Amino acid sequence: METSVQSNIKIEDDRTGLSVETLKRAFADNLFYIQGKYNAIATPNDYYMALAYTLRDRLLQRWLKTVKTYLDRDVKIVYYLSAEFLMGRHLGNSLINLEIYESVRQAVQASGLNLDELLEQEPDPGLGNGGLGRLAACFLDSLATLEIPAIGYGIRYEFGIFNQSIQDGWQVEIPDKWLRFGNPWEIERPDATVEVKFGGHTEVYHDDKGQERVRWIPSHTAIGIPFDTPVPGYDTNTVNTLRLWKAEAGDDFNFQAFNAGDYDGAVSSKMRSETISKVLYPNDNTPQGRQLRLEQQIFFVSCSLQDIIRNHLRKYKNLENLHETAAIQLNDTHPAISIAEMMRLLLDEHKMDWDVAWRITQRTFAYTNHTLMPEALERWTVSLFSSLLPRHLEIIYEINNRFLNDVKTWYPGDDALLSRLSLIEEGQEKQVRMAHLACVGSHSVNGVAALHTELLKHDVLKDFYKLWPEKFINKTNGVTPRRWVLLSNPKLSALITAKIGKTWLTHLDELRKLEAYTDDPVFCKDWHQIKRENKAKLAEYIQYHSGVEINVDSLFDIQVKRIHEYKRQHLAILQVVGLYIKIKNNPNIDIVPRTFIFGGKAAPGYFMAKLVIKLINSVANVVNKDPDVRNRLKVVFLPNFSASLGQLIYPAADLSEQISTAGKEASGTGNMKFTMNGALTIGTLDGANIEIREEVGDENFFLFGLTTPEVYDMKAKGYNPQHFYQTNPELKAVIDRISMGYFSSGDTELFKPLIDSLMYHDDYMLFADYQAYVDCQERVSETYRDQKKWTKMAILNVARSGKFSADRTIKEYCDEIWHAKPVKVSLEEYTQAHATLKG
Ligand SMILES: *Cc1c(COP(=O)(O)O)cnc(C)c1O
Repeated sequence: METSVQSNIKIEDDRTGLSVETLKRAFADNLFYIQGKYNAIATPNDYYMALAYTLRDRLLQRWLKTVKTYLDRDVKIVYYLSAEFLMGRHLGNSLINLEIYESVRQAVQASGLNLDELLEQEPDPGLGNGGLGRLAACFLDSLATLEIPAIGYGIRYEFGIFNQSIQDGWQVEIPDKWLRFGNPWEIERPDATVEVKFGGHTEVYHDDKGQERVRWIPSHTAIGIPFDTPVPGYDTNTVNTLRLWKAEAGDDFNFQAFNAGDYDGAVSSKMRSETISKVLYPNDNTPQGRQLRLEQQIFFVSCSLQDIIRNHLRKYKNLENLHETAAIQLNDTHPAISIAEMMRLLLDEHKMDWDVAWRITQRTFAYTNHTLMPEALERWTVSLFSSLLPRHLEIIYEINNRFLNDVKTWYPGDDALLSRLSLIEEGQEKQVRMAHLACVGSHSVNGVAALHTELLKHDVLKDFYKLWPEKFINKTNGVTPRRWVLLSNPKLSALITAKIGKTWLTHLDELRKLEAYTDDPVFCKDWHQIKRENKAKLAEYIQYHSGVEINVDSLFDIQVKRIHEYKRQHLAILQVVGLYIKIKNNPNIDIVPRTFIFGGKAAPGYFMAKLVIKLINSVANVVNKDPDVRNRLKVVFLPNFSASLGQLIYPAADLSEQISTAGKEASGTGNMKFTMNGALTIGTLDGANIEIREEVGDENFFLFGLTTPEVYDMKAKGYNPQHFYQTNPELKAVIDRISMGYFSSGDTELFKPLIDSLMYHDDYMLFADYQAYVDCQERVSETYRDQKKWTKMAILNVARSGKFSADRTIKEYCDEIWHAKPVKVSLEEYTQAHATLKG
C-alpha cells in the first residue's frame, strides 16, 4: 500500500502544481481529456467542469493523505450525522481554502475567460432546507480547518431543495436537477456499498453458546452506495470527507419476475428502493409523517453506522472501545433512529450483551436539539414502525422498559412523570417520540443558543433535565468566516486584512482590533464605500432579475430566511404597509429612503407561508409603482434564496431583520452572517440575537418586542389580538387596507385567511409587538440619517462578532462533548517529491 501511494505522490505532483502556468495547462488538459471539448466548441459549463476538476486534482493529494493518516493512527473521529447538508458551491470555497484564488483567477484570465462567470456555472448543491443544513456545512468547514478527524454522513438526494420561481406573486416550485451535468466534486465508492433491511418479522433463536438472540428476516432490502466529497480546511493539509449515500435496489431485485417476463414487477421493486434517495423533503421546522421519510432516516443511519463499525474493526479487534474511537453527533432527531440501530448492530450482528451494548451506545452518541416548536418534534406511529422496522420497535420497547423502571426507582409513584418521559406517547394512536429516544440514548443533549438551551431545560425537555442535569449543555451556533466573509465579501476582507493582518480568518476574535479604527476617517470612508459597492452589486442583480430599479443610497433592509409564521415576515410587511400609508397621507413627509428586500422559500404544503409571499409581492406591486412614493420606498421579493444568493445578499445589507416571536427561534445563523458583514440588527430577544446584542453592545443593536416570559405570560392570561387592533389606529389602518383589497385589485377574499388568523389567533403575537417594532424602525431611520454614526456602529458590530465563528462552536464541541483532538496531516513526501522535480 505504502509504495503505491508513494509513487502516486510523485506522479501527481507534477500535474497538480500551483503556478499560473501549470494551472493553465491543467485547465486546458481537463477540458480536452475529461470534458472531451476544445475551445471552439466548449460551453461555459465545459469550462466550469474543467476548472472544477483542476481544483479537485489539487485537493486529492491532501484528501487521500488525510484518509490514510486517520487509518494509520489511533485517532478519535467525529461522525456528524445529518439528513441535510447545505454545502453551497464548492469551486469558490476550494479556491479560498487552498488559498489559490488569485493564481487561478490569473490562469483563467490568461485563457481568455472570466473566473466570476465560471463560478456562476456551478449548481448550488441544495441538499438542505435552511439553517440546520447550513449549520452542518459550516461545522464541516470548521472541523477540517481545526484539523479534527471528521466525516459528515447524509443522503445524496437526486433532487435537492426545489428552485423557487414567482409567478403572479405566488411561489412556484421547480424540481432541482442539480446532477444533470454531472458532479465533479464527488467520487463514487462502489466498493464500500452496504445493505439496509426493511419490513418482515423477527425470530428468536439460540446462538452456539445457548444464549437467546433475535434474528430479523426483512421483506426487502436496499443498498447504499457512498459518494465522497472532499471538505478542505482553510490553510491546512486536512481534507475531511462528506460521505452521502445513494439508494439502489438490493439483492431482492426481482430477477425471477424479470426472467418470467414480469418487467413491471421487476422494475417497480427496483424503483421502490431508488426512491429512497430521490428527493429532499422541503420542510423546515415542520415534520413529515410519511413512510418514505422514515425510510430515508433508517437508510442513511444504517449505512453510516455500518460504515463506522467497519472502519473501527479495520483497526481494532472488537467494538468494546467504539466510544473511544468514535463520537457520533445527531443533528436533530432526523438521525435519532441511530440509537436503536446501533443497539441492533451490537446485539444482533455483533453478539454483544445488552448492558455492554447500551453503555457503548450512550457513550458514543450526542444529540443536538434544533427546535422549540412542539409541533416540529418528530413522532412516528407504532404501527408504521412495526411494519417497516419491527426489530427496532422491539429494541425501543426494551430501552423504554428499562428506562421507565429506573425512573420508577428514582421517583416512586409518579405515574404522570412516567407517561411524560416515556418513549411511547399513548393516545388514539401510539407514537414513538424520537427526541426522547435521542435523549435517553445519548450522553449529551445540547441546544444551539443560550436561551434555547435554557428553554429546553425548563420547558421542552424539563423532565429529562430533572433526571440528568449533567447531560444538558449549550453550544451556541456559529458560521464559517471563510465562506461568509472572505469569499462573499472580498473587499471588506481585504480592508480588514490590510489593517490587522489575516489571522482573523482562523481567530475571529482578532476582529476586535478593528475597534481602534472607528474614528479613523479614511478607514470609515473605505468601509462605507465597500458597503456601497456591495449594495450596488445586489441592486444590479435585482434590476436584472426582477426589473426593479433601486436607489443604492437607500437603507437596504433585508429579511432572508425560510418563510415561517414564527419568523414573522408578515410583521415586516405590515410595517411596510404602515409606512406606505404614512406617505399616502402626507406625500411630502421626510422619510429615510428604504429598500425592503425579502427572500426565502415556503414549504410547498404550508399555505399560510405561501400567502405571505403573495402578500409581499402584492404590496411590492402597488408601492413600487405609486408616484406618491417617489422611489423613497421599494419592496423586492428575491426569488430562490439559497446559499449562493446569500453570498450576494448578506454583504449588501444595512439592516438585518431578526424579528421572530421571542422563544421560538432556536438560534438563527443568518443573524450572525449579517453581523459579520457589517449590517446592524433590528431584532427581538430570541435565539442567538441575545448573544449578538451582548457582544456588540446594547447601543449598537435595535431591540424591540416582548421577551419570552412576557410572551408566556400574555398567552397564559388569554391573549386577545383584537384589543391591539381596536386600540391602535395605525395598526387598524394597515389591516383594513389589506382586508379591503387595496393590494389585491379589490379582492377581499385573497388575504382573508392571513388576516383572520391574525385577528382571531395571532399565535406569534404580531399585534402585540407591532407598535414596538414600528417605533424601533423609527429609531433605525433616525440613526441612518447620521451616516458617520451608522458606519461606526457597523464597524463595532463586525469587530465584536468573533464569538460567532463556527470555529469557536466546534472547539467547544470538541472539548466538552466529543473529546476529540486535532491531528496533523503531513505532506512531507509530497513536498520532497516536489522539491526533487523542481530541483
Ligand atoms: C444561513 C442560512 C439560513 C438560516 O437563516 P436564518 O436567518 O438563521 O433562518 C437559511 N438558508 C440559507 C441558504 C442560509 O445560508
